[in-house]
Amino acid sequence: MKEPMTETKTLPETKARTTGEFIHPDKDHFLSEENPFEAMMSRFDVAVKLLNLDAGLYKVLRNPEKQIIVSLPVMMDSGEVEVFTGYRVLYSTVRGPGKGGIRFDLGVTLEEVKALAAWMTWKCAVVNIPFGGAKGGVICDPLTMSMGELERLTRRYTASIIETLGPDSDVPAPDVNTNERVMAWIMDTYSMHKRHTVTSVVTGKPLEMGGSAGRREATGRGVMLMTRESLKQMGLPLRGAKVVVQGFGNVGSITAELLQEQGARIVAVSDVSGGVYNDKGLDIADVIQWREAHRYVSGYPKAQALTNDELLVLPTDVLVPAALENVITSRNAKDIKAKVIIEGANGPTSAAADEVLDKKGVVVVPDILANAGGVTVSYFEWVQDRDGYFWTEDVVNSRLEEIMVRSFDNVLAVSKRYKVNMRIAAYTTAIERVAAVHRLRGMYA
Ligand code: NAD
Repeated sequence: MKEPMTETKTLPETKARTTGEFIHPDKDHFLSEENPFEAMMSRFDVAVKLLNLDAGLYKVLRNPEKQIIVSLPVMMDSGEVEVFTGYRVLYSTVRGPGKGGIRFDLGVTLEEVKALAAWMTWKCAVVNIPFGGAKGGVICDPLTMSMGELERLTRRYTASIIETLGPDSDVPAPDVNTNERVMAWIMDTYSMHKRHTVTSVVTGKPLEMGGSAGRREATGRGVMLMTRESLKQMGLPLRGAKVVVQGFGNVGSITAELLQEQGARIVAVSDVSGGVYNDKGLDIADVIQWREAHRYVSGYPKAQALTNDELLVLPTDVLVPAALENVITSRNAKDIKAKVIIEGANGPTSAAADEVLDKKGVVVVPDILANAGGVTVSYFEWVQDRDGYFWTEDVVNSRLEEIMVRSFDNVLAVSKRYKVNMRIAAYTTAIERVAAVHRLRGMYA
């Protein structure tokens, strides 16, 4: 790719490009503990038992509504035609249009897209926004493609799944290796086919063409709010609380910045290059400046260096994994010293690790609640596009806060009612909501 993508994406940098550790994940090496569909389904099954869900509905909810596989011929810059495989899975549209990102990655599989689409279904239901869950992906290596090739691939993918897309049926967003530029191409392609401009067909767009104020910061803001609410529940002050953040991209750096604003002491942060630690607290604005100048946090002079493995087991009040999935597993869960884990990333904790953390009394605010700030402001973007009336950033932030705090309180109440951890409570809340709509709508069978 000749121009860097800058927003709401997980774009590996030079080191990763050379080692290929992100864009060539070796699926064969994934332990079943780390398989995303298994991780999701093991929690789903526990929640379903608690709810005593009837067998028919269980079967419906375990299966995606629609799975699309498309072959995408693209003219490469060399003049040769390459054919890529693309997927779009609509897991559930019972509560509203499918909602979920599109990732461009060599590691994309249908299984993974299916799991991520299910995850989106539960996430939208936990925060009670009127969307179902979807996800898309194209198997490609965007880091070796030119902007022209990426644009042609994006437009062909959009045209190939156009029947499913639409503000009332399926609304994509950015995900790994896609960003607001890609969303702009999707919006344009869709609009050209429809013969009029349809901004609400995607979210995560540039502000100039129907994006929402506050969307870039929304996930980190939600993580900050969930940290605040958890500590409040535990009777711990946020002011002075020790915080460790893994991942210093969109979610991690904004979370760190906002928590520092609230008086927390951010003692360590990391990225793919490694971590930096200062027990007196890091100046996050200064670390961000260093990262902007040097690309990575490592080498930051006013701190000690440490590895990502060491960072995860530091003594701290709060640990925010905000990088990748499966970083807290049965391998290191017993060594975690944090009192509370707020999952900024999707799927950072395996089901086996959950058991260990539960026994140790570590509170985990799960991804489908903790990082739902992003999809919530995506919902606000869709609402604003459909209204043609745009809100100020203050309005966006205060409505986000209202939804996140209410969702936290709901999940906490469910966790107390069923005597389960916050993750199972979040799944239970979500599945109960999706199941309720299925019952009301009835079965068209
Ligand atoms: P990003 O690309 O902006 O940042 C990712 C960060 O993780 C980078 O600092 C990168 O260097 C670091 N990283 C990568 N590999 C690492 C490793 N092995 N060890 C430590 N750090 C590593 O991505 P992002 O948008 O901040 O997303 C981070 C996570 O949050 C992902 O799991 C994503 O799915 C999830 N998420 C993001 C959003 C959003 O709105 N951006 C919303 C919901 C969930």
